[in-house]
Amino acid sequence: MSHLAYSNLTLDQLTPDLLLHIAQYLDIKSILQLSMTCKRLSTLVNDEHLFRRLVERDYQLTYKAATNTWRSLYKLAPMDICPHLGSLPETFPQDKQHPQRHATCDLCQQPSVTYLSLTSLDKQMCQACVSKLKDNQQLQGTCSVMYNMDGQNLYCFECSRAVGKENSDMNEREKAKQLLDQLQPPTNGLANSPLPKPTTKAAPTDDPQDVQRRKAEHIRYIQELRLEDMAIKHYLVEKNWSRNWMMFRTREGTPPPGPIANYRLAKNNGQLDPELRVPYDKYRPAPETHADIISERLWTFLVDTYGLEGRAYSEDMLVGPDYARLRECVNEYKRSIERYP
Ligand SMILES: [Zn+2]
Ligand SMILES: [Zn+2]
Repeated sequence: MSHLAYSNLTLDQLTPDLLLHIAQYLDIKSILQLSMTCKRLSTLVNDEHLFRRLVERDYQLTYKAATNTWRSLYKLAPMDICPHLGSLPETFPQDKQHPQRHATCDLCQQPSVTYLSLTSLDKQMCQACVSKLKDNQQLQGTCSVMYNMDGQNLYCFECSRAVGKENSDMNEREKAKQLLDQLQPPTNGLANSPLPKPTTKAAPTDDPQDVQRRKAEHIRYIQELRLEDMAIKHYLVEKNWSRNWMMFRTREGTPPPGPIANYRLAKNNGQLDPELRVPYDKYRPAPETHADIISERLWTFLVDTYGLEGRAYSEDMLVGPDYARLRECVNEYKRSIERYP
């Protein structure tokens, strides 16, 4: 098509698709004016595709109740509606629905779980860890809405409120209900059926894969304990996590730990806390400590196997007067093997 052909093109020669495309860059007033210029353009004001895009553009909303039209939603100018719900899928995978509550928080391993992350449906967290994530601004976008397992409701950390409550916007309510139906424990249908009988098995069940794994990892740990090559660089690993790993290695029925919780060794700025207590003897138990000292070889294995929440802290970082005490503990720890025959 020549340049001339373009210049002769009038609005009513544009294809409906092109018209729509242009319209979504106009403000609502211009769209209304345009729709009044001729019969053909008057259909613009009823176009649901167009209004869907306008709702998203002007209200950042990507969902609505089934009974609503995008046009009516646009007219409503919804203000008190959580846009973050829209980033969640309509249906969760079947095997992720109605999740069982974990025994411990996946981040700190404390025996308390309140929130289920809706972006990775396996992650369950305690109140403290969620607050920490929020303070570090890690609860934004798709991560901002979580399922509160105590209240069995949804909470948006960006809107700072429970969403889908009775008094909330009907679009929000419908979207929330759709999600909650998949998350809440399935009780309604079972109201009249008898309670499930308690299982006769008294001992905690053990995943067969875990049995293999716990043996292999415990052997690895024992080898590490005997290893006396202190020339290897050593790392700090958070103590509670370390204890959970020990439980997994040594106790049947204990689940494997989550990611290494090294963020607990940090101060607010992420730097290693110089006040930490660490052991100074490789073969003596040190119950009052915050971290264990392990070789780079074991550290690498653990990070590859379990993942890491927070930073890696090696002995190489223990420089400067702030860390002099910690440095001395690690040195003492590395010398301690010489005291044993
Ligand atoms: Zn929100
Ligand atoms: Zn926690």
